[in-house]
Amino acid sequence: MDVLKHASIPLLAFLALSKNPSLISIIILVFGSIFPDFDVFFKEHRSYFHSLLLLAPLFTVSLYVQNIYLRLFVFGIGIHLFLDFFSGVIPFLYPLRKKGFGLKVLGVVAFESLPRISVKYEILVGYPSKSRGSYVGFSNDSLAITLIALIVLLIRLNILSI
Ligand SMILES: [Zn+2]
Repeated sequence: MDVLKHASIPLLAFLALSKNPSLISIIILVFGSIFPDFDVFFKEHRSYFHSLLLLAPLFTVSLYVQNIYLRLFVFGIGIHLFLDFFSGVIPFLYPLRKKGFGLKVLGVVAFESLPRISVKYEILVGYPSKSRGSYVGFSNDSLAITLIALIVLLIRLNILSI
């Protein structure tokens, strides 16, 4: 998943849930939501910063420290890992164990005659990829999602009204 989706999707969720979003809160959330991919600057991408060995201690500290900015940062990291889980593999225990897992939903079938839904899925297994040392690049649909997020942001910050 690219940087624009990683920034826009948590931003949209935060803007939908927050009663009074501030600019500093938004900046910290977005920074947290793209932070894990800074591990592209290590030898392997989806490595140290995509591990629960980073997220779990941060999450625990955020429960005890009454700091909204720390919680937003951790929330951003958590959403990043959640999104990556559906678009590849996450090495949950990196560097102790490099093998990662992901989920690929192949299709959902709803049967009309029975109140039943069938979900076809595949568990992905893989390893961190060799880092290419860059974190730029996005798709056209990511740009569209980002533009929607920016419009919602301008509206929520009362810069734009509808
Ligand atoms: Zn990532």
